[in-house]
Amino acid sequence: MDNMRLEDLIEAGKLTARIKKDAEKLAIVGERIFDIAETIEMTIEKEGAMPAFPANVSVNELAAHYTPCNDDLSEIPEDAIVKLDFGLIKGQAITDTSITVDLSGKHDNIMSASKEALENAIKTIKPGIPVDDVSKVIFETIKKHGCKPISNLMGHKIEWMNLHAGVEVPNIPAHEMYEFQVGDVFAIEPFVTTKEGAGYIKETDHVEIYSLFLPGNIRLRQSRKMLEYIIEHYKTMPFCERWLFKEFKSKLMLNSGLKEMLKARVLMAYPVLAEAKGEPIAQFEETIVVTEDGCIPITKG
Ligand code: MN
Ligand code: MN
Repeated sequence: MDNMRLEDLIEAGKLTARIKKDAEKLAIVGERIFDIAETIEMTIEKEGAMPAFPANVSVNELAAHYTPCNDDLSEIPEDAIVKLDFGLIKGQAITDTSITVDLSGKHDNIMSASKEALENAIKTIKPGIPVDDVSKVIFETIKKHGCKPISNLMGHKIEWMNLHAGVEVPNIPAHEMYEFQVGDVFAIEPFVTTKEGAGYIKETDHVEIYSLFLPGNIRLRQSRKMLEYIIEHYKTMPFCERWLFKEFKSKLMLNSGLKEMLKARVLMAYPVLAEAKGEPIAQFEETIVVTEDGCIPITKG
């Protein structure tokens, strides 16, 4: 269980599933993306948990890592395909989940492909099964729908306070021979685009999400204060400018602090990721726990 507790995982999973169901209703035309992210995170906190990372609200060709900044005025556009991706920390457990909402009704193929690929992956995972078998199942399911998997985004092992714990589950076969073991916790997330898509994502130059990376020297006094705050509140988990703004209140100070810490490689940045040809992306994600005879998708509800 990698320092997580099964009872806590089950409980955190149930809470995550409940919040996900409510979050789905937030993805409507004209809704502020800021409000959606804040509502998800506030609900998590109201339930006595903590966000495991800033809630991602990624629209259309954006695959992941879009979280609003403190003064983000953008709204959900008409006919959008919206990915809500969030996770929480409760007790000794971390979850990671996502749902896609198709407001146009025109993306049935990528929606079904991602959903079914996830379902088939969950049916396949059990102790002794190599990760590559799961990649094959995901790939074949997506292909059957005439869609493309995103080749450079992957599912991942989750350990306590480590959301991306080394082992990855690619959405195309990649000879990953790690065998699932009882107690392993993984996030499975088939990202799917259309057959016209490039089938991979590119980093954009927009960054909102960061995490601690390496220890290093920070010169500016105000940046040091910020770093202390990050270490105390987020440890190794991702955070965003919007969260820091609630504490430090100055955009100018935040920007110079983040810039200095990035330059010193004290922080790592997670740029917003977009489909390389601008095609829409669907993504459904569940956190699973490997059991004696299969796995439990704890965040499914
Ligand atoms: Mn996720
Ligand atoms: Mn994930």
